[in-house]
Amino acid sequence: MPEAESAAHYLAEKIDRDGPIALSEYMAIANAAYYAAKDPIGEQGDFVTAPEMSQIFGELVGIWLSDLWLRKGSPDHIHYVELGPGRGTLASDALRAMSKFGAKPQVHFVETSPELKAKQAKVHESAAWHETIETLPTDGPLLIVANEFFDALPVEQYIATQAGWRRHMVARERNKFIAIPGTEIINNRVSKSSAGLPAGTILESSPASIEILGALSSRIAKQGGLMLIIDYGYDRPGTGSTLQAVKEHLPISPFDSPGTSDLTAHVDFHSLGNIAKTRLLSVHGPVGQGQWLKSLGIDQRAKRLAELVPKKADSIRAAHHRLTHPDEMGRLFRVMAATSMEWPEPEGFTYGEP
Ligand code: SAH
Repeated sequence: MPEAESAAHYLAEKIDRDGPIALSEYMAIANAAYYAAKDPIGEQGDFVTAPEMSQIFGELVGIWLSDLWLRKGSPDHIHYVELGPGRGTLASDALRAMSKFGAKPQVHFVETSPELKAKQAKVHESAAWHETIETLPTDGPLLIVANEFFDALPVEQYIATQAGWRRHMVARERNKFIAIPGTEIINNRVSKSSAGLPAGTILESSPASIEILGALSSRIAKQGGLMLIIDYGYDRPGTGSTLQAVKEHLPISPFDSPGTSDLTAHVDFHSLGNIAKTRLLSVHGPVGQGQWLKSLGIDQRAKRLAELVPKKADSIRAAHHRLTHPDEMGRLFRVMAATSMEWPEPEGFTYGEP
């Protein structure tokens, strides 16, 4: 994969040589280069994630996992698996909370970025790293956690034209990348219910996410355990592009500087939930992150932490607000769990959708 600075050059050469490429290929190449080159997370980087805002986030994930593990009868051979663990902060906070309940899982990280792997290794000496999900252990239940992982996986887009549906491709025009409809008509890739949609309508899907979710669901069905997915996304099928790019905390065009901005798309929880159901998992949620955290006791925990560390009371309150308020991450960020039929019902999904 090309380095971040040269991803644009690599893409330009490839398109000039071979013609337009699928949007999913553009996104895959740009993001691989982006994550390989640097740690983009934090105030100094391009974006901040929930576990980096407050230790409470990871602690509550750990307590949630511990509760399920305890109610399952505390099996001793279990694996904590995190997809795209970033700096390893969520894992640190969750595993610390789990150890208080006596849960000591083996730790597995699925991570492709050498830069972030090195950061994770500093805080998790005994973890095992995996380039893909295929090498994850096949013995024992898997407790899989993915926070802001699926949004980084490539999406395909289909656009309705007078002649039928076409794939969105990335081409070059006057030295700039642009999205154009492909030449091929691919009506069979789009569901029949989309037949009457007007020209210009865009449909999005993430084949990479669906493949990963399907494979992990099969593993959970066989080995036991569960998956917790937290990300921004939507609960019902919709139309329109959700592709976006962020650089230094500001939105920019996804076509401006591939490899040096964070390219993401909203996560299609509807499709992911359906895939998990076809593998006979029970699906819980999605619900808003705010509601989920509140039902696990974030209000009480934040209050207690502020009393214990008065110097940090203001920043704890600010983080609580960002994590839970509907105008911040509370509603747009969704939480969904998929559990093995043999595992207990998880907490936090009792009340509706907000
Ligand atoms: N979960 C972390 C980091 C989110 S950023 C947090 O909440 O702070 C996205 C993470 O997914 C990074 O660690 C990135 O390197 C990783 N990642 C992106 N695409 C990936 C892929 N295809 N396979 C494995 N990891 C990937």
